[in-house]
Amino acid sequence: MEELNIKAFLAYLERVDRSLLSLLSHFRVEERKGKILLIAENERAKEELEQRLLSRLGNGFRGKVELRLEREEEEKGTENNLVEGLNRRFSFDNFVVGEGNRLAYEVAREVAENPGRIYNPLFIYGNVGLGKTHLLQAIGNFCASRGMSVIYRSATDFSEEMVEAIKAGRIKDFRDRYRSVDLLLLDDVQFLSGKDRTQVEFFNIFNHMFLSEKQIVLASDRHPRELRDVSDRLISRFEGGVVVEVCLDEMTKLEIIKRKLQELKLEVQDRIVELLMEQTSNNVRDIEGTIRGIKLKGVSHIKEKGKRTNDLEKVILYTAVHFGLKLEDLLSNRRSRRASRARQIAMYLCRKLTNASLIEIARAMGRKDHSTVIHGIKKIEQEMKRDRKLSHIVSFLEKHIGDRL
Ligand code: ADP
Ligand code: MG
Repeated sequence: MEELNIKAFLAYLERVDRSLLSLLSHFRVEERKGKILLIAENERAKEELEQRLLSRLGNGFRGKVELRLEREEEEKGTENNLVEGLNRRFSFDNFVVGEGNRLAYEVAREVAENPGRIYNPLFIYGNVGLGKTHLLQAIGNFCASRGMSVIYRSATDFSEEMVEAIKAGRIKDFRDRYRSVDLLLLDDVQFLSGKDRTQVEFFNIFNHMFLSEKQIVLASDRHPRELRDVSDRLISRFEGGVVVEVCLDEMTKLEIIKRKLQELKLEVQDRIVELLMEQTSNNVRDIEGTIRGIKLKGVSHIKEKGKRTNDLEKVILYTAVHFGLKLEDLLSNRRSRRASRARQIAMYLCRKLTNASLIEIARAMGRKDHSTVIHGIKKIEQEMKRDRKLSHIVSFLEKHIGDRL
């Protein structure tokens, strides 16, 4: 029955506007209490579908479709303990462990079982989509279930909240709230970059918590020493506990694919597993999106276009748009400073955001071999160290485009 209703809904969408279906790969589709629930990965996907779909829903479905943001599905805390920002979906049990992430997983478990005692802070870093947020959330859920008070925040949200508190003259409340929790999970700390006031506030909260043996867990897309425009004293705090990297090796990727297929009640066929191994990048979010796509639209759809190439194209296109260039100008050999700079930034972002190989990036950028790509990436990395403005632009694009993949 359940399946039927979702199927009917999908068939309806396909009739109304086929392009809506591809948007759905950013959603979990569920049926609850006679309603179709579309749970969005991110704000943007939610907004886009809201605009494009809700107003057009025909009679049969009007009022029966609800859009929700994943974060809204969150845990509300039990009786006495304050719990904020957690989503029950993430646990240690549903985290697939393998070579590349075993150490991070084990340390995370130990921290959850003995918070504040052994590894403080715990700093997890690694590329996008490799399970950093998952591990932070799993620690949080574990501790919350033991009655601890927990706050999970992305550094960006933390910063915005602080700014609001200052505006409202409530900075003391803000500090007190954070200082009083047993466990603080701060995600995406690379976005503390350049936010001096936030860094000062966080530094003070950190010290306070640390001295009272309260656990702090941080996640970032890079090692503490690679953080840009973050104060030295914070970096040395970040390095003061344990720093672990999460990676994704091929065996673990394979296990993850199998597990995710099972979770979505899809048959684990060799040819589908192989296809997914090939067509997805080393990014579990990408893998999940592709599998959801299979669930919704069948496997033939995936065959048509590789997701990996798609992501590369998107990164390149968004970069071109940002610099006001036509795609062909970005890809051409022209030597104008703006175009060549944008081209190098695009290469750098492809590398950061997609996990595609250098050769694949070279191909997507219309280059014959990958030495140009290596050169471009190095150049941007070096110049970002010196050039604050460039570094801001690149960080902005990284976040902006990353959110859209
Ligand atoms: P990150 O924070 O590193 O960018 P996330 O933790 O958000 O990545 O992971 C992206 C998605 O992939 C999430 O839905 C997460 O549950 C899933 N995921 C990542 N790693 C694993 C894993 N080892 N086992 C199961 N699911 C995973
Ligand atoms: Mg994350």
